[in-house]
Amino acid sequence: MAPATSAHPPEPQTPMFDLTGRVALVTGASRGIGRATALALASRGAWVAINYASNADAAGETLSAIRAAGGDGELLPFDVSDGAAVAAAVEGLVQRKGSIAVAVANAGVNVDSLLLRAQEEDFDRMLATNVKGTLFLAKAAVRPMMKARYGRIIALSSVSGEMGNAGQAMYAASKSALVGMMRSIAREYGSRGVTANVVSPGFVETDMTAGLGDEARRKMIELTPAGRLGRPEDVAAAVVYLASAEAAWVTGQVLSVNGGLRM
Ligand code: NAP
Repeated sequence: MAPATSAHPPEPQTPMFDLTGRVALVTGASRGIGRATALALASRGAWVAINYASNADAAGETLSAIRAAGGDGELLPFDVSDGAAVAAAVEGLVQRKGSIAVAVANAGVNVDSLLLRAQEEDFDRMLATNVKGTLFLAKAAVRPMMKARYGRIIALSSVSGEMGNAGQAMYAASKSALVGMMRSIAREYGSRGVTANVVSPGFVETDMTAGLGDEARRKMIELTPAGRLGRPEDVAAAVVYLASAEAAWVTGQVLSVNGGLRM
């Protein structure tokens, strides 16, 4: 056996969850979980397209934060509920960058309402953004992913979709729909190197939950074994894992990130 030599120290091993050279698109990355996800993917080396609907300043802050940390990306505004706009944006991205390896369907809207007060226009809006928006993104991304034999489609669902929540019949319906959608996509494209998974957060401190009253917040924390609400970064880390090469054998799954609220 050759003696060990100190002249050539061993090559450092590639760190796990390395995304260097991968192109990622995160919808709704101007704020909250989407922003934290864009930053987390970039921190592992991904080049990140930052989608948003209207909040250009906030999206610009996401990109600035990525660049300040040594990463890069671009702003890519479009309305996820507009199928033609999603298709055009993804096609343009693939033309510019050559591929799309990671598509995170994070953009979402929520209007709380008891069933008896449910308004059809609110339901239409949640279905259009949360459900159709996810399908449009997956549909646009899957062809270039198949070609590259590497694809990670990740949809943001919600603990409300898993266990129900009073006042959220419409929102929960739009979120549990994503489980069947991702599992079907997982079955269709599993053999082509494309995985499709769901990340299902519990209650996370973002604009979406800013309206939660003190009493509701206290109750929610009491029900959560981890003893606190989530931070956007808690959820972003799960997305990074599912986006990585190491998660190649994980598909059609629901990864709940909820402090133990539901187990
Ligand atoms: P948020 O702070 O309210 O941010 C929503 C993001 O979605 C914004 O970037 C917004 O863009 C974008 N968006 C909304 N409609 C859009 C559209 N039609 N097209 C493109 N972008 C659109 O939300 P969040 O709390 O981070 O939640 C992110 C995801 O996690 C959502 O799918 C949500 O349902 C899910 N989730 C959240 C929680 C929670 O407790 N926060 C829990 C479970 C699941 P603009 O800034 O341009 O408006």
